[in-house]
Amino acid sequence: MQRRDFLITALCSVGLPQVGVADTKPRILATTGMLGDLAQHLCQDFALVENLIEVGLDPHSFRPSQSDIRKLVNADLIIANGMGLEQQMEPLLEKLAKRAPLYFAGQILDSGALLPYSQDFPDRHDPHVWMDIDLWSRILAGIASALVEQFPIQTDAISRNLSDYKSKLRSLNAYANEVLGTVPVDQRILITAHDAFQYFGHAYGFEVMGVQGISTDSEASILRISDIVRTIVKRKIPAIFVETSVSDRNIRAILEGVRAEGGQVVLGGSLYSDSMGSPGTYEGTYVGMMDHNITTIARSLGGQAPKAGFEQKLTGVAL
Ligand SMILES: [Zn+2]
Repeated sequence: MQRRDFLITALCSVGLPQVGVADTKPRILATTGMLGDLAQHLCQDFALVENLIEVGLDPHSFRPSQSDIRKLVNADLIIANGMGLEQQMEPLLEKLAKRAPLYFAGQILDSGALLPYSQDFPDRHDPHVWMDIDLWSRILAGIASALVEQFPIQTDAISRNLSDYKSKLRSLNAYANEVLGTVPVDQRILITAHDAFQYFGHAYGFEVMGVQGISTDSEASILRISDIVRTIVKRKIPAIFVETSVSDRNIRAILEGVRAEGGQVVLGGSLYSDSMGSPGTYEGTYVGMMDHNITTIARSLGGQAPKAGFEQKLTGVAL
């Protein structure tokens, strides 16, 4: 049986939602941690918010298990990124959208705000929109509307929470512009494991080179690696970055390649791209993940950032 058929059969066999006596709060299931963070801030304690894709897993390649499918079917609202991020789950999400409340968060953004996926796919858009804090704030507003529609009795609380978190994200965006603006112009080039940072580069004025493409499903070519090695040596780029949810193999090959060419580059740190940090840590929140990325990038590329970042809560810059 093909994977797609398996998923659809599994979905049909899971049956109707089973709500336990203790489960009186609505259950909201977000695919990624970044979406779950927005839903959690908007709902506070009136709903139980859970993330489907666990910390450190890659949403491009994530395939739901039977118990994941059960969670999806039992949710009172599913929030997915859409735009091809949850690539392996697309057939299942499309199927679910016909029988369960499912909100695709990317739909609030008009195409003028979106970046292209690649030249090979002119009709598709880059799904990594959380990397631009202003765009993510618009996604927050879209999720708030979806929550109001689903839970109208909570309208006042959602509106209040929306206003509070929007204001926090506005401050974070101001911090990003200020701190990243201290990076010397000729060093504003961000080299990472895969192309998750195009929106970041677009918003904060950085050229971005991902070793792998927008999705992690294609292997980086030798040609791409040697092209990046040449760029680093020629432009004297001081640091490159690994990502917590993507293998560091290619980035390490680049480090070796640059050194073999007589260039100097260091590992600037580990960035949170498609997954946040561990639950319960500062980096396990959207604000913490972005603070970590902004602060790490600025420091590694010759800029200046306050000792402990935006909120004085950074738990350490992973190398
Ligand atoms: Zn990605």
